[in-house]
Amino acid sequence: MSRVLVVEDESAIAELISLNLRHAGYEVTIATTADQAQLEITRVLPDLVILDWMLPGQSGLALAKRWRSESRTKDLPVIMLTARADETDKVAGLDAGADDYLTKPFSTNELMARIRAVLRRKAPEALDSAVELGGLRLDPATRRVSVGEQEVKIGPTEFRLLHFLMTHPERVHSRAQLLDRVWGDHVFIEERTVDVHVKRLREALTPVKCAQLIETVRGAGYRMTQQMSATVG
Ligand code: CA
Repeated sequence: MSRVLVVEDESAIAELISLNLRHAGYEVTIATTADQAQLEITRVLPDLVILDWMLPGQSGLALAKRWRSESRTKDLPVIMLTARADETDKVAGLDAGADDYLTKPFSTNELMARIRAVLRRKAPEALDSAVELGGLRLDPATRRVSVGEQEVKIGPTEFRLLHFLMTHPERVHSRAQLLDRVWGDHVFIEERTVDVHVKRLREALTPVKCAQLIETVRGAGYRMTQQMSATVG
């Protein structure tokens, strides 16, 4: 369930893109101006942005440059759309930090292929392929978590949290990082919320003996690990 922000002032194009994306299982938000796009980015960090070059007010190019210069958004995948077919424009777009570039008119098939390619390069957790760790299996396509034949019942937030942890194993994630990557709304949620959901996740994983895969790292955050730590009881 990747989040895609579509920044496009032409509503017909924005609707066509979002229709295709939703059909393919993406969560879509549309912004029609640079200001609106910036507000959305501040509110929720998406997995990918489809950014039109020509926008009223600030251009898509300026917006991409701004995102690249800020630490929170510097790795944000961006696909630029433009009506210009000029090679120099393409270079300018890529220089500004776009990951890919598509000239209008384009086929939605091509756009979807580019989106998948950019997400594959940038964010492995955005892929819909199943992940396995320590006998635990999570399948984003069917939203199932299982151990062997045994299914694990977990809520949507715990599912997203588990997905993120499983696709970024053996690394410690702070509560703030988890809020930003899993909840996407770091401004309005308390860090304690993370603890609540980790607790629920562990409870859900207890019947299948997988709760110990999620380790609390004192003063740092959480880590998904297959290596049993001697310091964790
Ligand atoms: Ca436009």
